[in-house]
Amino acid sequence: MLAFGNVNADQRLHSGDVVLVPLQNSEINTEFFYKNNLITTINKNNKHYLLFGIPYYSSVGTNSFVFTTQNYEKVIKLNIEPKKFGSQNIKINKYKKKSQELLERIYSEKREIIRAKKIKYKHYPDINFMIPVEGIVTGVYGTQRYYNGKKGNYHNGHDIAADTGTTIYSPSPGKVILTGDYYYNGKFVMINHGNNLISIFLHMDDIHVSEGRNVDKGEPIGTVGNTGLSTGPHLHWSVLLNNTYVDPLGLVKNNKVKLDN
Ligand SMILES: [Zn+2]
Repeated sequence: MLAFGNVNADQRLHSGDVVLVPLQNSEINTEFFYKNNLITTINKNNKHYLLFGIPYYSSVGTNSFVFTTQNYEKVIKLNIEPKKFGSQNIKINKYKKKSQELLERIYSEKREIIRAKKIKYKHYPDINFMIPVEGIVTGVYGTQRYYNGKKGNYHNGHDIAADTGTTIYSPSPGKVILTGDYYYNGKFVMINHGNNLISIFLHMDDIHVSEGRNVDKGEPIGTVGNTGLSTGPHLHWSVLLNNTYVDPLGLVKNNKVKLDN
């Protein structure tokens, strides 16, 4: 869900939701950080907002989120309601014991991702996202995952199953900041939509864009595949805000909930 407006109002917010925090005119050129992570700023109908992603592990109840600038702190209080995300067990046969060499590869790929996430791209993003591929939803944001019965991470994205080779479109304009063929991700594309609102597309069969390139909304970026840690052809789409994974559907037009203001 994407919540607009006065954040102190009575809202039904959950982990992974996206909140728009109105900015004063004096604040529009200021960089805000949450726990050292840049917060995305947007311009919507000539009004400026912080686009804040509620971290998955936020506690239920009233949370105070502190946004820092060079000179002051801006604090917002949000009431986070409980949400049942469900759980899912996944059988993985493909992955066995990891060699030292493989572990080093995984660490170095992790470092590359961290580096790419920090690259600043100053541009107001278009937050009216489109679904990047047509298909069947096979996984949603927030599900607790178990791999062969062992507790793993929560599912941080949105899964859409489609045939291998199905075209994937960029959900919003942006700049391609990283592509690769990684152990877990398989072939993937990372797009910064502006002001560090980032999409990541995993398990692709083919990549049609290169690093540094700008893409339009609806432009093909590659195709659906089954590469990396994947159990069938599908697209895994994650969205990052303030270095927090949010529910990508919160930015898709038909899923927006306007609260007040
Ligand atoms: Zn997934």
